[in-house]
This record gives sequence, structure tokens and C-alpha cells, in this order.
Amino acid sequence: MLYPPDRLVAAQLATAAAGLDALLVTPGSDLRYLTGYHAHVLERLTCLVLPAHGEATLIVPRLERPAAEASPAPATGVRIVDHADGSDPYPLVLKALGGQVGSVGLSDRMWAMHALALRDALPGARQRLASEVLAPLRMRKSPAEVAALREAAAAIDAVHARMGDWLRPGRTEADVGADIAAAIRGAGHATVDFVIVASGPNGASPHHETSARVVEAGDPVVVDIGGTMPSGYCSDSTRTYAVGRPPSDFIAYYDVLHAAQVASVAAVAPGVRAGSVDAAARDAIAAAGYGEAFLHRTGHGIGLDGHEDPYIVAGSELELSEGMAFSIEPGIYLAGRHGARIEDIVVVTATGVERLNTIPTDLVTL
Ligand code: ZN
Ligand code: ZN
Ligand code: ZN
Repeated sequence: MLYPPDRLVAAQLATAAAGLDALLVTPGSDLRYLTGYHAHVLERLTCLVLPAHGEATLIVPRLERPAAEASPAPATGVRIVDHADGSDPYPLVLKALGGQVGSVGLSDRMWAMHALALRDALPGARQRLASEVLAPLRMRKSPAEVAALREAAAAIDAVHARMGDWLRPGRTEADVGADIAAAIRGAGHATVDFVIVASGPNGASPHHETSARVVEAGDPVVVDIGGTMPSGYCSDSTRTYAVGRPPSDFIAYYDVLHAAQVASVAAVAPGVRAGSVDAAARDAIAAAGYGEAFLHRTGHGIGLDGHEDPYIVAGSELELSEGMAFSIEPGIYLAGRHGARIEDIVVVTATGVERLNTIPTDLVTL
């Protein structure tokens, strides 16, 4: 994976255009995106100080200096400055900025202890969110990033393809989930981010994880799984399985959901509004009488974070453009009975859409 210095340059131009004097970026996906440095999230301050104009500084705890120097960050041209335990690191930010500034963009997921200490260290600076500047950049993936997401999708597809090995009547969701988690790692992910095995009535809760419930013959089972690859890019895919012969009401709405998911994927193209992609799924589900049972937005962006911009949500006027990557995951949830969801990651191409998950979305009976 390349972390070209162009990302820092693009971020500086966007920072200036947004009327911000600097971005202050603590460990997390923004820092990894800009510099390639995958740093620990700590109470000790690590902070990229990226002024709209001039040199970037990476402030790190002294014991993290070797890791920062070994990361791709120095190759992007950032200067590394360290601080010892027991010293106050926040004045180093003011120093790196060359004095007081009017406004700064803080990474959205910065800990409050750092955000408030930075407010004290830069008393004149208005604090805004760095996502104003970084979300539009991160939303549009480069070909290398799309390739990384494609690799992640193939890895999670390989796990779904083996579901029949694990998902059987008489086993608990937790046991099935443990096998899936091992397979997620085995398929090349660096970390397992979530494993949802929602059998029978648990399928009606979209973010159920796993439980001690024993899978029974005839259960529909929603399996939503994902992890992070060594590249830093994430996978996320849902398939709904039938263990034996499912109830007939389930088969009826699975077909509705399947058609809605296909229609929503087909609606994706450059120039289309995110809200229209949501509507393609929502209208099809509502027309069949299940509108109330589709409890959530149609999708979320994916990249270095499992959930990021753009969000595919009702009413969004955001215009899709080439390189945007996001999930299409409508669901139907009937409380007390069962549920279903189908989720693929897609990317907007120059002329339409590419589905990164390539396994079928038809109901799989195990
Ligand atoms: Zn979710
Ligand atoms: Zn998912
Ligand atoms: Zn998702």
C-alpha cells in the first residue's frame, strides 16, 4: 500500500480552502490515511500538526519514536518531534504551528482529554471537525484503495462460502461465531471486527452479536461479519441462511429483500444522489408492505474505518462520484419471529457500479 505525500498536500489545500489554519490529527484512521502511521491510541499525546501552509510535524511520545520512524510517515516528509513522560506535550502543538492560530480541525474520533487540553494550549483557536476537510478526500478511493477493499471483500466472501461447515442445528450461535472468527483470521484479516450470528427471533435485532441460543432446524440465520486486513482496509458482508426448511412467510419476504438489494445496487452510478440509492431499496420493501420492518439506512461508507462517509440514507443529497465505496444492506426485521439482511460492498466506477463481494445473494439453504 502506498501512502503518497500527495495526500498531505491535498489535505493542506483542502484545509486552506475550508478556512482552517491547521488540522490536528491523533491516532486512528485519519492519521493512517495521511501518513501511513498506524499508531496506538493512548493517553500520551501523538498528534500530526498539519498547517494549511508549511511543514507538517508529528508529535510523539519518546517511547513511540522508533515506531513512528519505522512507519511510512518520515517518507511523507513529516518532521518527528518527541516528548518525555512527565513533560507537558501540548505546548509542542503551539510551537509546531509557529504561534497562535485562529481555527483548527480536530480528528473526529480524538479523545476528549486531548481535545480539551488542545483547547487550553491554543486558547484563541476555534475548534472544528477535521472531517470537514478529510471526509471528502477519504470518501473517494484511489485505485490502490479500491484494490485493497476488493481483497478484503474476497477474504470475507471466502468465509461465507464455508458457512455450511459451521452453521448447523444443535450448535449455539457462540460456537458458530467462534469458528467464523477463526476463519476470518485464517482468510487473511489482521483483526476480527464483528461477528453477528442471529438465529431465529434474534435475526429481528440488526446488531445482535452471538448468544447461547441453540440453532434449530428451520431457523433463518443472519450472519454479518467483517474484519480489517493488514492493509488497514475493512470487510463487511451479510448473508442470510436457512438451516433446513424455513417458514413460508420468511421465504416470501426474503424474495422482496433480495429484489430490493439488487435494485439498490443497480441504482448506483456517478451523479446519482445517495438518497436515491436508499430509496431504491426502501420503496421496493415498502411497496411489498414491509416498510416499517426496514429499521435502518441502506448503507455506510467503508475504507480504513468500517463505518465512514458516505452514508446511504433517506434524503441525502450527496452526489455519488467515482471511487466512493459503501455497503448496500437493506434488511427486514419482524420482532419475535425472524429477520433477514443482505449486504454487499460496492464501489462507484466511471460509468456505474462494481460489486466487490462476488458470492451470490440468493437464499442459501444449509
Ligand atoms: Zn451495522
Ligand atoms: Zn455488516
Ligand atoms: Zn455494514
